[in-house]
Amino acid sequence: MPSGSPGAPLSEIWGCDVFNLATMEESLSKGAFKVMKAARQTGAPLDSATADVVAAAMKDWAIAKGVKFFSHIFYPLTNITAEKHDGFIVINSEGHAITEFTGTLLIKGEPDGSSFPNGSLRTTNAARGYTSWDPTSPAYVVHTANGATLMIPSVFMSWTGESLDKKIPLLRSNAAMSNAAERVLKLMGETDIEPLSASCGAEQEYFLIDSHFANSRPDLLLTGRTLFGAPSPKGQEFDDHYFGVIPERVQIFMQDFEDKLFRLGVPAKTHHNEVAPGQFELAPYFESANVAADHQQLMMTTMQTTAKAHGFVCLLHEKPFAGLNGSGKHVNWSVGNSTQGNLLDPGRTPAENLYFLLFCGAVIRGAHLYGPLLRAVIATASNDHRLGANEAPPAIISIDLGEQLEEVFSDIKNGKLSALSEDDTMDLGLAEILPFGRDPGDRNRTSPFAFTGNRFEFRAVGSSSSVAGPLVAMNTMMADSLDWIAERLEAEFDAGTSRIKAVASVLKELMELHSNVIFDGDGYSEEWHREAEARGLRNLPTTADALPVFLEADVVSLFERTEVLSPVELKSRFEVYSEQYIMSIAVEARTTVEMAKTSLYPAAMSYLSHLAETIHRAAAIGVDLDATTVKVIGNESDAMLAAANELTEAMSRDDFDKIEAHMRYCADTIRPLMDKVRVHADRLETEVADEYWPLPKYREMLLIK
Ligand code: ADP
Ligand code: MG
Repeated sequence: MPSGSPGAPLSEIWGCDVFNLATMEESLSKGAFKVMKAARQTGAPLDSATADVVAAAMKDWAIAKGVKFFSHIFYPLTNITAEKHDGFIVINSEGHAITEFTGTLLIKGEPDGSSFPNGSLRTTNAARGYTSWDPTSPAYVVHTANGATLMIPSVFMSWTGESLDKKIPLLRSNAAMSNAAERVLKLMGETDIEPLSASCGAEQEYFLIDSHFANSRPDLLLTGRTLFGAPSPKGQEFDDHYFGVIPERVQIFMQDFEDKLFRLGVPAKTHHNEVAPGQFELAPYFESANVAADHQQLMMTTMQTTAKAHGFVCLLHEKPFAGLNGSGKHVNWSVGNSTQGNLLDPGRTPAENLYFLLFCGAVIRGAHLYGPLLRAVIATASNDHRLGANEAPPAIISIDLGEQLEEVFSDIKNGKLSALSEDDTMDLGLAEILPFGRDPGDRNRTSPFAFTGNRFEFRAVGSSSSVAGPLVAMNTMMADSLDWIAERLEAEFDAGTSRIKAVASVLKELMELHSNVIFDGDGYSEEWHREAEARGLRNLPTTADALPVFLEADVVSLFERTEVLSPVELKSRFEVYSEQYIMSIAVEARTTVEMAKTSLYPAAMSYLSHLAETIHRAAAIGVDLDATTVKVIGNESDAMLAAANELTEAMSRDDFDKIEAHMRYCADTIRPLMDKVRVHADRLETEVADEYWPLPKYREMLLIK
């Protein structure tokens, strides 16, 4: 097992379990390598002869690492990673076991589609689902103590070709963005334009809890968060955890999982303590969005399995502990290629400056028109606890450009760019943005979507979520905006306008229409909520408010126009995510009732009976004890039980005509009733003797290192 070699130099272990281009070059013929290399870049399907050659080489490479099984790995509409393992084993006519792996097996798999949620696609595709290798994301080997498996990143679709997964829309959205960007760059006079790719670096926050505590909490095991728990006498108020010295046990865990990630070619780069006690962060170095999305899933799995081996449970839930900061996943995103570079980098030459302004303008327009979509793609039952809760960005989508860049765009709106002539040096102050924007100290942490020097940072994404949905939304809105820009530029150029004047006029119009989305003030403040409303920016506080955005005409049309998701594919997403929201809350509600009734109430009663008996006995010998605690426990227990019964009663309702109504009910009725049960339970926790209380407490779970 490779994790047993601590201290091996990075150069030795980096990517050693990945079937990467270097490995392919060694093991494939020149011709096959060339075809494969092209497929790696474009995603074009391999011809069957090359597929056979690649499969054979992959098999030999994997077998030398102890692999006997392979699996297509794919990403259904839940946030999970799915896999179906198959052996290389074939029994020949003499009864001997031999190994076999053909191009067909490499390229195509057929897991049963019916067990994955697929919304309304279920009726059209029956049970069958196919996986198909995505050659742009490299295959790799995962080791366990007793063996190893070859993992083949794949797309997952219905047999009629509809996407049942998160990867296909990501690939399509990247292509749409690339085509639209090429169109703009061509209009600007570029002739050598490589395909563009979105890049993503996602900062992952998580909690580590000793597993023996987590194992004694049904709520953590079943729902990923604590449904009960009084605040610890000491929480995060001292700010003594953030960037503090990483506890040694945690460092040992981090070193172990990062070593595993390095072997898998996942560029784990930065780790530190986060704000809440027991909370940490890992940020990998950014990569092309598709590979980054696969790596993000792999990272989450590796963190969770490695935590187990170190006696921890790794909690990826957005809000495992009430009253403490929750966990997010900041998605850093930019678009670029090898010929023009990162187009969200202000750049140093006048031409680069112009491209930057156009691409940044495209983001502004996208966030304004499709802000509600950005809110919808991060909507889950768990992320609702975080958004707007004074620690995470609000549920209103706005853009923070930073002071300087905001000024540049306001100058553009006021016609300053139009006043420039073709040979002007474009002194718009962009030179200052370069060093300034990159200073992380200046960031407005309350903004959900911020420009951070050479990229945008989408901060409202939840920690447990796949990054694919947010990336799809950003790429697609970008494709749409770049197309809009291209159309206007074409018209300007047709009318004989000069380059800089054309850009100035398009950006001026864009700012007149969309500058309302720009806001660099305090996103938590009440005034902002009022102002946002006046500006026409929507506030979608819960998932019940946000998911129906998927059905709105402009969103359906956006995805259809850009060919990222057909209306039926989009609708299936709405249905699956809505069902997941309802089911998650149902599981939480049932767990709340069960714990309250079968664990907390009995504990309170035992202690109450003990106290009552003691008071009674003391009275018999003439000592009068204060019975207040007995009364408080009695009252709170009764109130908790009554609330639990009310919740059970509320849960029995199932006469909803539409799934939207059911979601509303979950948000407005079920969740508040769960909170009601909790209030009484948490009061009991502070009254009942420690030895009687059946659950590990916040102070135990969070503050023991
Ligand atoms: P901070 O916590 O200050 O936001 P981190 O260093 O923790 O910064 O994370 C920044 C993330 O942004 C990293 O994953 C980094 O690789 C990524 N990143 C940097 N430049 C780009 C870029 N051009 N495009 C996309 N992601 C980027
Ligand atoms: Mg960070």
